[in-house]
Amino acid sequence: MASPNQQQKYKCPCGKSYYTVHSYYDKGGLFDEHWEMNCCRCKQRYQLSSFLKEAGRGMNEAYIWAPINIFSELAVIEGQLQRARDDRLFLARELCLERWLRYFSGAKTKKEIWRRLTGQGGQGSGYRLFFRTVRRNDLAEYLQGYFHYHNMDRILKKLGVRDIRLDEMGTRISRLQDRLESLRALMRMEGFAARSEYGRG
Ligand SMILES: [Zn+2]
Repeated sequence: MASPNQQQKYKCPCGKSYYTVHSYYDKGGLFDEHWEMNCCRCKQRYQLSSFLKEAGRGMNEAYIWAPINIFSELAVIEGQLQRARDDRLFLARELCLERWLRYFSGAKTKKEIWRRLTGQGGQGSGYRLFFRTVRRNDLAEYLQGYFHYHNMDRILKKLGVRDIRLDEMGTRISRLQDRLESLRALMRMEGFAARSEYGRG
């Protein structure tokens, strides 16, 4: 990593010591920051975390000192959510990937595949991209790849597949998502990001 162009000390959460923000600039302005906790006491209680925050020109990464208990629970829930999504996709593929591929058997042209996939005809930029980038020999591979987490509910619906295990897993995933959202909100509320300069009153 390049050496920082600027280093600034700010008061830490307990107020007895400080943390350092190393800032890196290029021609376009600030492009990276590195926050370092220099207070032994706060090091035990806070963990650096980041989240996306709306800024002038779009979303920016913002840093925050997150209380360690919230930070740890967030990591646990994120792990559980990822595993729950993987498991649900795995089961769905096991149950109906074959059927999904058969759904397209007999489709002779790319246009016909696209129609079965989207319910739309051969117009629009989506179709043009599909037509240009997917080769005939790769269609099976494309359809397998299309069966990913964000498309799976649409696919299940299209195939008319209902499965109680998938439903239960879906309910658990929603609960984990809700928990994650409230933990993130809590982190932004309880997290520390004040920048009062250290050593000046
Ligand atoms: Zn401190």
